[in-house]
Amino acid sequence: MHAGDVVETAIAGECSPDLHLVIAALPYPVFLYAPDGVVAAANPAAERMAGTSLAGFTVGRVIDTLAIRHPDGTPLAPDELPAARALAGQAVLACPLTVRSADGNVFAVRASSSPLVRGGVVVGVLSTWPDITDLAGALDDEQRRRGEAEAHARRQEAIAKTLAQQKEALRDSEQRVRRTLERLLSPGEEFADLELSDILDLPVLQELVEEFHRLSGVPASIIDLHGKILAGAGWQACCTQFHRVHPETCRNCVESDLELSAGIAPGESRLYRCRNHMWDIATPIMLGERHVGNVFSGQFFFEDEEPDLDLFRAQARRYGFDEAAYIAALRAVPRLKRETVEAGMAFLRRLAGLISSQGYSNLRLARALVERDALAASLERNRALLARAQEIAHLGSWELDLATNSLSWSDEVYRVFGLSPQEFRATYEAFLDAVHPEDRNAVDDAYAGSLREGRDAYEIEHRVLRRPTGEVRWVHERCEHQRDEAGRIVRSIGMVHDITTRKLAEMELHRKNEDLGAQNEELQAQEEELRVQAEDLGRLNADLSFQRDLLDTIFETLPHEISVWEQSGRYVWLNRRVARELDRSRDELIGKTWQEIGLDPDAMEPLMAEVGRVCATGEPSASETVQPSPDGARWQRRTVNRLPAGDCVVAVSTDITEWKGAELALRDYAERLRASNEELQRFAYVASHDLQEPLRSIVSFSQLLDRRYRGRLGADADDYLGYIVEGGRRMQALILDLLQVSRIETDAKPLAPTETGAILAGVVRTLETSISEADGRVVVDPLPTVLADPSQLELVFTNLIGNALKYRRPDIPPVIRISAEREGTLWRFAVEDNGIGIDPEYFERIFVMFQRLHTREQYDGTGIGLAIVKKIVERHGGQVWVESSPGTGSTFLFTLPAL
Ligand code: ADP
Repeated sequence: MHAGDVVETAIAGECSPDLHLVIAALPYPVFLYAPDGVVAAANPAAERMAGTSLAGFTVGRVIDTLAIRHPDGTPLAPDELPAARALAGQAVLACPLTVRSADGNVFAVRASSSPLVRGGVVVGVLSTWPDITDLAGALDDEQRRRGEAEAHARRQEAIAKTLAQQKEALRDSEQRVRRTLERLLSPGEEFADLELSDILDLPVLQELVEEFHRLSGVPASIIDLHGKILAGAGWQACCTQFHRVHPETCRNCVESDLELSAGIAPGESRLYRCRNHMWDIATPIMLGERHVGNVFSGQFFFEDEEPDLDLFRAQARRYGFDEAAYIAALRAVPRLKRETVEAGMAFLRRLAGLISSQGYSNLRLARALVERDALAASLERNRALLARAQEIAHLGSWELDLATNSLSWSDEVYRVFGLSPQEFRATYEAFLDAVHPEDRNAVDDAYAGSLREGRDAYEIEHRVLRRPTGEVRWVHERCEHQRDEAGRIVRSIGMVHDITTRKLAEMELHRKNEDLGAQNEELQAQEEELRVQAEDLGRLNADLSFQRDLLDTIFETLPHEISVWEQSGRYVWLNRRVARELDRSRDELIGKTWQEIGLDPDAMEPLMAEVGRVCATGEPSASETVQPSPDGARWQRRTVNRLPAGDCVVAVSTDITEWKGAELALRDYAERLRASNEELQRFAYVASHDLQEPLRSIVSFSQLLDRRYRGRLGADADDYLGYIVEGGRRMQALILDLLQVSRIETDAKPLAPTETGAILAGVVRTLETSISEADGRVVVDPLPTVLADPSQLELVFTNLIGNALKYRRPDIPPVIRISAEREGTLWRFAVEDNGIGIDPEYFERIFVMFQRLHTREQYDGTGIGLAIVKKIVERHGGQVWVESSPGTGSTFLFTLPAL
């Protein structure tokens, strides 16, 4: 069992012996209370603690005996004891208490009390007090700390409360002071509700009146219109202990102070008896026009008068004053000489005057100061507003004093110029320095000019070079001059408007306008171009239709059948000749395939195969066909070409039957000519070859006759023999030459790469004797290898060099130069001499066989050499010609194919 629970159990005495034993054995105090709150039993531990038997003790006595306290030391009320609460039916658990034992030790216990209930009725209480001193120590510490913390918090709270009160009081006082100050200083107010106390330094005045009283013995005080005494000295006991104490007499005092002192002119004073029958003197204190208080001197008797003591006694009785004390107080009232009072009064009048004038003046001054400050603040505000307005409008102002050359700028001007007041010297020259260099002269001229010409104003737009960035700004300046009485300009005032944005926009507009202008011009040029092109197009159209008509006519006139085919075998276009051939109109044919038209597949299929091939490869084709016809064979030539458009071809068929006949005839003729030529050549060869033999006999026998019978047959016979021999020799030479000519074809060898240089070296060697006899010189340039018949090439050079030697000029040794130059696929050879030259009219003729330009007497020869040269060169596929001027020399030129 343990305390704390509500237990249905037996009360002491009714407990079982075992339970008693248990309770007795517990090491801490245990109590059993009867329902009436009296200790029914306590265990030995409890009795040890109390030092006495506790049985029969009431709750209160238990508390007293054991000095039971709350842990914080406060005494416990009887109904706070856990046992008392348990008796009321409430179980109490571990309630901390302190208990003092009989030997004076203090224990900490945790008391738990449980009602013992039977049948729903509390029949007793079980209380247990386990000793928790050690624990309580710790708890006490904590308790103490908590207590300290709480006490601290309470102190804090109290301080905070005091502070709040003080703050509140301070705020009240502040508000009061502020209100007063505002009243004092607000310029609109005419001091109407100012109190006298508001304007006086009361401690100083108090000292003053005290000093005055000490020196003069005249009591004095300063009282406002409500009767409030603001400063005073020399107050009499009759006043302070009697008149001002009793309400009625006090009212008399105040009424006297207020009413009897009313209406006194400023600077004057009034002597009167107060309602308490004492003398008073008052002089007003004015605040401007307003009466705000009085300087009083009073509560005295004149030296030369006897106070009416009966009156005062009656007054004492009337107001219940202690008559003896009152009279004694009256006797103590100063009795002043009239001069003293008068002198004191004069002083006090002055004092009142001084307070009035000084107070008022001070107030005026203070207000003036406030007004000045307000004006200054308002001025500053306006200046700031102006600066801001200037900043917003980008509008600055400046002023130049011409006498001092001092220039002042508004903030915005500094901003526009990118300068700070520190770095700017504020002179006209410094200003000019900030102007853009290119505009500086114009700006200076504008200003100086306006001064020179005495104009009142001028305006100018110019640029400013902003320091330190070098940014360029545009400004518009307007300047006005101010004059003195004599009309001289003494000051210039100007406005500077930053118009950069507008200016840039204008420039941009201008640029765009120019662009537009340029674009316009370009457009016009394009229009003109278009017009010209349209005209050209018109002309071209006309041209085109003319050309179409022309082509149409040509196509119709041409002896060809022209048709344009799609690869699919569809007619795209055809000329009338085709339509006629097919016996249809063109419209019936164009756009249709040959199958749709029903053309003969045997004729068309080969054509279509050709069309397909040409379309695919782009290679043109040409073919000839022959068809039998009643008039004999009919020949047709057909060409097929792909059109640039792609899968279309143009087929052109031409009837070449006639041409074919002519060609065949020509071929036949050529063949016959070749045969005849061959025959002729054979004949020439045979003739020259065969003629040689009889001619040789004729020549040798003639020579024999000549040798044997010269001088014997008569002179004529000698001549005749000589002619015969000569004729025979010439005939031999002619026949040899002829044989050579005929051999060009008959003995011809195939062309082979031939070194011209080597050939020429052989020729020069062969002709060496002739060259040296003629005292000649042959110069040979480097020569190429060509495709040639070497022996024939040798013949060419032999003939040409031989002629050059033969037709030399008698007076000049012959110089012959052989050279070669490449010309495309050919080499061009030149054999140049410095001989007699040839008249151009014979340039052709000299290449003809047997053609000579000289007689045999002049130059020996047969006239065949150049003909041989020509024939050989032509056989090699080249050409030969001569360039010459008579008397200077000739150049024989010929070409041979290059390798
Ligand atoms: P030939 O020399 O036997 O008369 P060619 O056929 O060699 O016959 O020459 C024909 C003619 O061309 C010559 O008679 C001569 O008048 C002229 N001729 C040829 N070569 C030269 C030359 N190198 N200078 C001047 N005349 C020339």
